[in-house]
Amino acid sequence: VIASAFTYTGQPARVVFGAGTKSSLRQEAERLKISRALVISTKEQAGDASSLNDILGPLAIAAFCDAKMHTPAPVTQDALSIVKDRNIDGFVAIGGGSAIGLGKALAFRTDLPQIVLPTTYAGSEMTPILGETRDGQKHTVKSASVLPETVIYDVNLTLSLPVRYSGLSGMNAIAHAVEAVYAQDRNPIMSMFAVEGIRSLAQALPTIAKDPNASPSRADALYGAMLCGMCLGSVGMSLHHKLCHVLGGTFELPHAETHTAILPHAVAYNMQDAGSELSRLAPVLDARDTATGLFDLAKRLDLPVSLKSLGMPESGISRVVELVLANPYWNPSPLEAPRLTNLLRRAYAGLSPEVAD
Ligand code: NAD
Repeated sequence: VIASAFTYTGQPARVVFGAGTKSSLRQEAERLKISRALVISTKEQAGDASSLNDILGPLAIAAFCDAKMHTPAPVTQDALSIVKDRNIDGFVAIGGGSAIGLGKALAFRTDLPQIVLPTTYAGSEMTPILGETRDGQKHTVKSASVLPETVIYDVNLTLSLPVRYSGLSGMNAIAHAVEAVYAQDRNPIMSMFAVEGIRSLAQALPTIAKDPNASPSRADALYGAMLCGMCLGSVGMSLHHKLCHVLGGTFELPHAETHTAILPHAVAYNMQDAGSELSRLAPVLDARDTATGLFDLAKRLDLPVSLKSLGMPESGISRVVELVLANPYWNPSPLEAPRLTNLLRRAYAGLSPEVAD
């Protein structure tokens, strides 16, 4: 059986994909009737942001190059005052999830259109989800106004993404697709995207690690990231994302690294109850089983696989279990304290995932 009953809501985003597509930015802005654009980036990518001025011409009114990871509310307030003072009527974010997050936060507050030029593989550009931090707490918003209207994927913009971060943000994207295949509201369309997204990234990332300028592999990775981002934007996430959310929030562990270290173990945890869905992913990872395939991919990319190496204290394991159980996400396998503790102990030590025969 390929499809039985399902519900699927398409996310209305326009995608322009290719090498050199950045040059279509002005045309895309005009299409959205943007005449006074605010360009958004992190400090590190201020150069990328200013490279858009020539393309936008008179449509470039101001730049805000102070976007930060996890969209802190005070930064959004600073950017919002520019939006008001300069009469901004649209946003152009260039960068990864941090720059895109700020664009989303501004669109959420103003309902103005957004164009995004992604430069990592995290997949945030394809989702109507915004994670913001206020007074040390992470708040998640899901709203149609948050989804960027237009995404310009320019492969050339990803050539400068360091090898290590290419692998890490790629694993972050893969995590979205993995959890999509066993989501409570899974559907055959998103599962198809998930399989293809993982296939593209798993094939491309090892080549990029050897040759960061390999443009065809960069294109495949970016395409994979797009598909994985669509998965995150369309269906609910489970144990893996919950664990990463708790670990990030409690110990301020780095986002993509935490996803990389947890994913194989979350998959092994769910294998018992989502085995048939997960078995679709093993062949695209060229692996015996999906959990081991993901662990081996991270190792092959020379990425950290232990929470210890990310700075988590071993004594924090019980706190994470408590927090996960206090406010759980739906998950295919029942959440049980002893099994969660075992998962976290293995991830802490960087052991391979425990896969039942
Ligand atoms: P990032 O945007 O934080 O980027 C990491 C660093 O790499 C930044 O300094 C950035 O400027 C730099 N960088 C990015 N692309 C580069 C390039 N091509 N060349 C050189 N440097 C480059 O990283 P990210 O992993 O894309 O985003 C992480 C954030 O996104 C987190 O806050 C996470 O919560 C969020 N996120 C949100 C969603 C969502 O749907 N809401 C999905 C995934 C991630």
